[in-house]
Amino acid sequence: MHPAKPPIDIIRIDKRLLTNEHLSIKTKQIKLEPISSFSIDKNENELSKIHKHSSSSTPPTSVSYLPDGRIPTPPQPPKYSSINLKPTTPSLILETLDEVMSPQLQHYCISHPICVLRGISNVLKLDLGLFSTKSLVETQPDHQIEVRTQRQQASDENFDFTAMTIPLKNIWKCESSRSYTTIAKYAQYQAYSYNDMIKDDFNEPLLSSTNNLTNGTSKKNSTSCVRTIKFGTNVDLSDEKKWSIQLNELTKLPLFLRVQSAGNLLSHIGYTILGMNSVQLYMKVPGSRTPGHQENNNLCAININIGPGDCEWFGVDHQYWGVIHTLCEKNGVNYLTGSWWPILEDLYDAHVPVYRFIQKPGDLVFINTGCVHWVQAIGWCNNIAWNVGPLTYTQYYAAIERYEWNKLNSYKSIVPMIHLTWNIARNIRVSDSQLHELIKFILSQSLKYIQLTLKYLEEQFGSNIIIRKQLRTSNEPVHYCITCDYEVFNLLFVKEIDRKHVVRCLDCALQYDKQLENVVVLYQFILDDLKTIYDQFQLCYAPNMK
Ligand SMILES: [Zn+2]
Repeated sequence: MHPAKPPIDIIRIDKRLLTNEHLSIKTKQIKLEPISSFSIDKNENELSKIHKHSSSSTPPTSVSYLPDGRIPTPPQPPKYSSINLKPTTPSLILETLDEVMSPQLQHYCISHPICVLRGISNVLKLDLGLFSTKSLVETQPDHQIEVRTQRQQASDENFDFTAMTIPLKNIWKCESSRSYTTIAKYAQYQAYSYNDMIKDDFNEPLLSSTNNLTNGTSKKNSTSCVRTIKFGTNVDLSDEKKWSIQLNELTKLPLFLRVQSAGNLLSHIGYTILGMNSVQLYMKVPGSRTPGHQENNNLCAININIGPGDCEWFGVDHQYWGVIHTLCEKNGVNYLTGSWWPILEDLYDAHVPVYRFIQKPGDLVFINTGCVHWVQAIGWCNNIAWNVGPLTYTQYYAAIERYEWNKLNSYKSIVPMIHLTWNIARNIRVSDSQLHELIKFILSQSLKYIQLTLKYLEEQFGSNIIIRKQLRTSNEPVHYCITCDYEVFNLLFVKEIDRKHVVRCLDCALQYDKQLENVVVLYQFILDDLKTIYDQFQLCYAPNMK
């Protein structure tokens, strides 16, 4: 070890920027046996026994962080004898501060797949005008905004404009092209489009459903009238200096809805994940579409409509994501990476209940763990949104399950669950035994993998490989493997590519070069410190809450 050497300046680059020869993405294999044979009751001595008895001529297989060696799979639909396919969306009209601040409100939000809180902005006297287009232009006119160019359609239509056949048919795939502009320029577009559309649609209400679908096709015989629109999305409001007044206004919200709070998993990440533990803004004209998705790692989301126009929402309970996943595949679009707008009839045919509702200005939508949702603007409006992670077993399990599913699909988990779990163990006292057990299991799997990897390196490479200490700096983002996009926790396999130092996981480093030539291994935590955190993470008994 050479602790005196200057730190290696690792860069994070989009893997797509590298030439193909460096990249051969493979699907990770999870081996069942070693996982099920390892229970969380094993203490540190047992961990070291595993360490000693394992064969180290072959690299350790990547561990699963799902208990009992469960393999994540899209769930089968629940079997109910009768089912309401068009359920009423849970909503509350809040009138007093006591109601807004009561613990029952959080309980309500995390008991339904999706819900609307009306009146909350009034009760809290939230000045939503701070997020109006006028204020935004006054505050940061040159701030960057991502633009999605889309076709304006009724919310229950998604026509295939590439087909060139009449009548047009509805499809799931909904592609849009991406570009960038500034808040000031988008604001100008938003205002012009208002004048334009009001003039054009003088005698016709905007975007009312055409209701002329026959067997999923439209009687429309021309595409010439289809308007192209621009949706201003993912405006980053994370900078506390630039957006101090706006961000400060949101601290009026009750703790469980705030961007930051001790009880929010995402406040323990230690760095900013744009749009998750920071606020993002959306600027819309009628028809602006957010395609179907679940939040990153199935976390909850909060969305407030700033107005002046309305938004229309569609939401499906977490337990039906497997059905939607299958429908996506049938329709030739990837559930995780693709862009899709569900055909409602397909969902009803598959017995999937869909919540459908209008979000008025000032309404807060709470999207619970794993809820699949898609949104379309009815009028001209801005929205603000961020994620929260309630510290519950249900949320934690859904997050780690999606983490494993993402791994199987070589899809990046924006929430670094291993890093987060170590931070949670360090920072939080957990009194829910199920949650405690799950967190302890993840820690033990992580420790085991680190120990097996170190043993493998020692026995296979000995002094031929450099293992250096490079502790994490504060606010340092987590490292992801440049090849497979998997979170690389603690042991970073660093190699120089095109004069830049990039990080790989052990598997990809070995796949690239079995001899690990010119690879330096950096460790970011001292093993004994991790063992101490593991040992000290004990179930804490909450006072009896009768
Ligand atoms: Zn990798």
